[in-house]
Amino acid sequence: MNFNGIDFDTYLKNYPNEEGFFGKYGGAYISEDLKKAMEEITEAYFTICKSSKFISELRRIRREFQGRPTPISYLERLSGKLGNVQLYVKREDLNHTGAHKLNHCMGEALLSKYMGKKKVIAETGAGQHGVALATAAAYFGLECDIYMGAVDIKKQAPNVARMKILGANVIEVTEGLATLKEAVDAAFKAYANEYKDAIYCIGSVLGPHPFPMMVRDFQSVVGIEAREQFVGMTGELPDAVVACVGGGSNAMGIFSGFLNDPVDIYGVEPLGRGPALGDHAASLKYGTEGIMHGFNSIMLKDENGEPAPVYSVASGLDYPSSGPEHAFLHDLGRVKYDVISDDETIDAFFELSRLEGIIPAIESAHAVAYGIKLAKEMGKGSILINLSGRGDKDMDYIIEHYGIR
Ligand SMILES: *Cc1c(COP(=O)(O)O)cnc(C)c1O
Repeated sequence: MNFNGIDFDTYLKNYPNEEGFFGKYGGAYISEDLKKAMEEITEAYFTICKSSKFISELRRIRREFQGRPTPISYLERLSGKLGNVQLYVKREDLNHTGAHKLNHCMGEALLSKYMGKKKVIAETGAGQHGVALATAAAYFGLECDIYMGAVDIKKQAPNVARMKILGANVIEVTEGLATLKEAVDAAFKAYANEYKDAIYCIGSVLGPHPFPMMVRDFQSVVGIEAREQFVGMTGELPDAVVACVGGGSNAMGIFSGFLNDPVDIYGVEPLGRGPALGDHAASLKYGTEGIMHGFNSIMLKDENGEPAPVYSVASGLDYPSSGPEHAFLHDLGRVKYDVISDDETIDAFFELSRLEGIIPAIESAHAVAYGIKLAKEMGKGSILINLSGRGDKDMDYIIEHYGIR
């Protein structure tokens, strides 16, 4: 399929280019030392991802350890309530550890093992990426250093405990505001010293090349499964595919399966409390081009051009930029990006729980809310929503802030 001059038959092979660019977005804006480390990872990835041993090992792990393929569920009661649009969800909440993140963490950790590295390093904010990576490290017998701001360590005690139980070292970062940004800086610094023995495992389609490509490729299993399952269930393609976008990994995973199809694709960003800077994390909607954390994309900036403070009810979505591939697909118009507020999200959270027996992650509830809105607009047809994770992690927050409806 050709769309605005881009040939989507060969898109996944041709994008990013050799330097890691999706059009003008992406690249690797990092120190010479880190550049060398990234080149080593890129080379290893290109060799390994074509080896049948690596591929069959990853397939076996997905089947026997992660519980893949995850199913698609038809939302019969919610669809019935909305009229003539049929809603479906891809159940990444049923992936081991309860979200899609393990898809790329298992890939990254397997790559580390093949490269002969002893350790994986990452930062974490709310702790979801840290838990997924600690799980992968335990599976492969790798050491695991997770950098986390002191403030986040206090807030996210259950995830800190999970990481420790899984054998990870949780390293407290006390500089600055002691949250995610400082944790990223500390983890990068540690990696620059340890890259001979360690790999930095990025938690989304973010960071310098090759991570946006590699994480997309590892997540593409979601889109490949979903397309085949949906056609198997209904005999046709969905009219629309919807996913929430923080960094953008669950979205790229499911989108990649449908980019070459006549399917409308929607990425949903968090509008939080509203459109004022600091009240949301909708970088593609309100941001401008800029470089941070080693890549060029569309980002939210403060008056000094630095990454702006962001907010969302979903801690997994509050990042001031999005992956470079989303910026590219945004400008191209192949994917439409729109926003959903905290209030709409919480309504959808309770609606899906009550009508379907599925408690979604608050991140995923953004996509569900958008699917409901879209269904009302479309009037007929079918919508496939990526349910990126389950809501168990959000119970305390929901009870404290919203009570039980
Ligand atoms: C981390 C997380 C997200 C956001 O990350 P993406 O890279 O944008 O997918 C979404 N949903 C859940 C359940 C998460 O844990």
